[in-house]
Amino acid sequence: MEPVTDTFARPLHDLRISVTDRCNFRCVYCMPKEVFGHDFEFLRRSQILTFEEIERLARMFAGAGVRKLRLTGGEPLLRRDLERLVAMLAAVPGIEDIAMTTNGVLLARKAQALADAGLHRVTVSLDSLDDDVFAAVNDVGVPAARVLEGIEAAAAAGLGPVKVNMVVKRGLNDTSILEMAGHFRGTGHVLRLIEYMDVGASNGWRLDDVVPAAEMVAAIGAEWPLEPVESAYRGEVANRYRYRDGGGEIGVIASVTQPFCRDCTRARLSADGRLYTCLFANVGRDLRGPLRAGASDADLEALIGRIWGRRGDRYSELRTAETRESPRVEMSYIGG
Ligand code: SAM
Ligand code: SF4
Ligand code: SF4
Repeated sequence: MEPVTDTFARPLHDLRISVTDRCNFRCVYCMPKEVFGHDFEFLRRSQILTFEEIERLARMFAGAGVRKLRLTGGEPLLRRDLERLVAMLAAVPGIEDIAMTTNGVLLARKAQALADAGLHRVTVSLDSLDDDVFAAVNDVGVPAARVLEGIEAAAAAGLGPVKVNMVVKRGLNDTSILEMAGHFRGTGHVLRLIEYMDVGASNGWRLDDVVPAAEMVAAIGAEWPLEPVESAYRGEVANRYRYRDGGGEIGVIASVTQPFCRDCTRARLSADGRLYTCLFANVGRDLRGPLRAGASDADLEALIGRIWGRRGDRYSELRTAETRESPRVEMSYIGG
């Protein structure tokens, strides 16, 4: 099949696969406890795609142009035997890069097996080095050291350079920016500061809570001078900067203040097999139904091509009061 493009001529290049909607954290900006409590109904096992189903869909997506896969969730390392899925995906023709985004808690135990199976890179989320601040973010009392161990294990297993994602919410962890930058400077790991986004419907997002990327770059640059780095490829979401003294790089993801929809080449597959063409979509298209009903490879590829071909999403560019009124899907379900 020919690679497909959407109504803004954007190719389908990346696929984020959510392997579970469950998580061992309750980050206040993603899965607040009041919503994701004991009685929250997560997907049942029968609803979740099997590894074989994920692999089959990945083949179809590769046929439509996808070259990069990212495993995410929820927390992807909660899915048992994830390395088996990685090995299956690594064998899909056309796939050039397989990455994973994780909160890092289970990474020290898993990094080597994942690398051996063919995982190329990991992104580890860490929002503060201060245990009180970090516990206030993850809301389950996990200390930062646990995540740092995961980062080091990943680097030792060859999954580096590790990208470290820090979502910054004003009043929650903005005081941790300089300490984080100082810690990761010179380590080869790349800190990426992310503007807090209005994903889902449960995090009570307000524009005042967003620390603009420009403000974060100015704060770090005042301590350790920075200069911009050209982006490496179309669709790179992070604006990159390097320390003038050779201390490495940082990235900022300014999804709120400088949206990048015109280069957005990503699709998202939820754990139950729905295809979302935007992080802010309120409906996904069911692929599991046709898959389990016996659709042929050609049918599935054509369906994926039709969905992408009709895509006109550019939510962040349009971020308006009226779009915000409709219910949206949660990030833990769709994958970040
Ligand atoms: N559990 C894994 C983790 O935290 O890395 C993977 C899934 S998580 C949904 C993926 C990424 O989305 C994380 O880096 C997380 O910090 C980010 N994220 C979640 N909610 C967000 C929000 N409201 N704004 C910006 N980033 C968010
Ligand atoms: Fe879990 Fe990741 Fe969401 Fe935090 S950001 S609650 S670790 S899915
Ligand atoms: Fe892509 Fe939607 Fe985000 Fe725009 S708002 S960058 S289209 S995911």
